[in-house]
Amino acid sequence: MKKRIVTLLTTALLLSFAFSSTVSAAGFVQDTAGVKFQNDDGSFAANTWVQAGTGIYHLDAAGFVQTGWIQVGELWYYLDETGVCTNPEGSPVGPNAEAATPAPAAPSQTAPPQAAPAPAQTAPAPDAAIAAVFEAAGWTLYAPTDATLLQNGIASGLIGFDGARYWASPVFTAALAGQTVPAPQQQEAPQVTADKPQEKTVYITATGNKYHRASCRYLEKSKISIDLSDALAAGYGACKVCRP
Ligand SMILES: [Zn+2]
Repeated sequence: MKKRIVTLLTTALLLSFAFSSTVSAAGFVQDTAGVKFQNDDGSFAANTWVQAGTGIYHLDAAGFVQTGWIQVGELWYYLDETGVCTNPEGSPVGPNAEAATPAPAAPSQTAPPQAAPAPAQTAPAPDAAIAAVFEAAGWTLYAPTDATLLQNGIASGLIGFDGARYWASPVFTAALAGQTVPAPQQQEAPQVTADKPQEKTVYITATGNKYHRASCRYLEKSKISIDLSDALAAGYGACKVCRP
């Protein structure tokens, strides 16, 4: 019996190996030095972008999946720890600009909104060359109002810094525009009377301690209508004959 189980397990293992060796599709391959992307024909992609699933990855000259900031052409791209590119449209500035980014000044909530921004005498002048790159790429000036949003934007490469001003990528701007505050739900006034339980009328007698249906035979001598709640409150019990 034991031998039979071992045989079955071995067969299953052999089958799984057979499948893994016969299935050949493009995909990632773990190498001793890193992760590579193998094409359908068995060759390895190198120095190029590849898309796998929903992720876009970049492979270095040796064919390994890259992470962190990389520069391809004139644009910078950020690849997360799994290698997925988080800013496929590219950023005119890379990690250096990010490192030089000072912490955004928290907007003063008490300052009147119409107050003109103080002259930036101490802040460095915007780098005209970098700004031109931003503008050419379709980026727009961005005034941070949310520190977390700003940090996420910088981390994902969707927000750049030209030395004095922030720039938002078209993707970031579109995402912001999509964050519309839902209009308050039109709520109908709760109908208090609709939910009020219908008062049920029962009948009691002048001397008894039970309440009855109108048709009960115990009501021949006296029949006093009363709300059920009142009858219950007064200590009356349900008649066992008419079962009101
Ligand atoms: Zn009764």
